[in-house]
Amino acid sequence: MLIDIDRLPKEGLHVSRGFDFLNVDLVEENAVFLEPAHADVEVRKIGDEVWIKGRLTARLSFVCSRCLTPYEFPIDSRFDLVFLPDEIETAKDELEDDEMDTMFYYDRRIDLRAVILEQLNLTFPPKPLCTESCEGICAVCGELIRDGRCSCQVKESEPGMLDLKIFMKDKR
Ligand SMILES: [Zn+2]
Ligand SMILES: [Zn+2]
Repeated sequence: MLIDIDRLPKEGLHVSRGFDFLNVDLVEENAVFLEPAHADVEVRKIGDEVWIKGRLTARLSFVCSRCLTPYEFPIDSRFDLVFLPDEIETAKDELEDDEMDTMFYYDRRIDLRAVILEQLNLTFPPKPLCTESCEGICAVCGELIRDGRCSCQVKESEPGMLDLKIFMKDKR
């Protein structure tokens, strides 16, 4: 969906719609859409600046990086962006201190779909986890570890502790 900067109405543009992205559009390799993304966006032009402010919701399925179990990842994020024309991109350095998320538009147009997709990808955690305390899979028996236990009850910390004790004994 392309926004023509020169045709933006004075009072701004309100867009509320769903966006059909493909799973391959997502930066997270194992992410799958459970519900398509929906964005509620306000586009406003102030001089040569274009302000895009809005809310983005979606429901995805991620795969936990520790236990490899799929889990639901709901997204409800807000964003507040300022776009400047590319002619002043050379002045970028001067803008760096600015708190705002400054971007640039080219050819007097902004691809709203691309903006929404980028914002969606920015909400992803660097390492997806089903829960913060997920203990993952045992390297020995391959089963899920719960409360530090699995069917073979091997604790990863034990060999390390033993090495440390031997090391300390040798030092004495
Ligand atoms: Zn997990
Ligand atoms: Zn085990």
